Amino acid sequence: MAVDSFSARAGKISANIGAHYVDNARKLPWRAPPGGDLPDPYHVWLSEIMLQQTTVGAVKSYFELFTRRWPTVESLARAKEADVLAAWAGLGYYARARNLHKCAVHVTERLGGNFPRNESELLKLPGVGAYTAAAIAAIAFGERAVVVDANIERLVARLFAIGTPLPGGKAEIRAAMDAITPSRGAGDFAQACMDMGATICTSKNPKCDICPVQNQCAAYASGAMESYPVKQPKKAKPVRRARFFWIERQDRILLATRPPSGMLGGMRALPDDGWAAGNDGHARPPFPGAWQVHDNIVQHSFTHFSLEVDLAVYQDRKIVTDMTSDLWWPLADIADAGLPTLYTKVVEWKLKEEI
Ligand code: SF4
Repeated sequence: MAVDSFSARAGKISANIGAHYVDNARKLPWRAPPGGDLPDPYHVWLSEIMLQQTTVGAVKSYFELFTRRWPTVESLARAKEADVLAAWAGLGYYARARNLHKCAVHVTERLGGNFPRNESELLKLPGVGAYTAAAIAAIAFGERAVVVDANIERLVARLFAIGTPLPGGKAEIRAAMDAITPSRGAGDFAQACMDMGATICTSKNPKCDICPVQNQCAAYASGAMESYPVKQPKKAKPVRRARFFWIERQDRILLATRPPSGMLGGMRALPDDGWAAGNDGHARPPFPGAWQVHDNIVQHSFTHFSLEVDLAVYQDRKIVTDMTSDLWWPLADIADAGLPTLYTKVVEWKLKEEI
């Protein structure tokens, strides 16, 4: 690596990444081509909310479905929250879907359907944190904002061999990203860095031989590319236990609507025993009877804990329950219930069990 001043190196990194993007930008349904008109802020916002903790591959079909069904922020605001949650089913982190709807209503009713263009105003919107505000400001409005997602974090930590373990090293990484972000075209630059992190400077086996900033990369010069970003050793996740209840009557099962706030809030689900991130469920069935219990049939990983699920089954043609507010759902149409992935896994297990 040639010996340059910090600012000269930052300038070269910025120029090389920008030039590489012109011919190598990923074509994604929410993007505008490099150097062209700015994309629709509604599309940028929707895609950024969907992309939080989720891969581009998983998001594409959901983005297309949402924009077909709700082509504008106003149409999304008019939708029922239950329909938005059902359309989101399978994408995970369901608080995002509730905030998505809340934010659409806010933008439509209070801001005349226009997203704010600067970071501090964007930060006031439901579900929009520091990263998302910076990304929308830069990509949708061309504002100079410093955008750091997980891909960019890895790329920048390697370029500058930032050795402070995360999360403590985030401030240094952000300062380095600030140094290489150009004053014009910050949105294209952020997307160029995202693409670099996703396709070249990958977590394992980075493709340094085709990297446009190989000559400026401190990690490459040291041969320790995969040592960055440095992370604190992970703590083991706690394991929680839950029992779900399969209550079947004449080819229908009883579904419940989860409480509006908290884990998977407002989603349709199987009735359960009150499990939560901080406690096991009580395992008691909702009414006495001949329950058949299947132990630990599904394991599911959340960000901060793992869940082991038992299934208690009650099948009777003449069940009478007082759960009048809940839903008897035809088993043949269970795929349309919009169940979150955790519950879908349990339903699939049960249906397979019966074959
Ligand atoms: Fe990443 Fe390798 Fe490029 Fe450095 S040279 S930025 S480690 S791909």
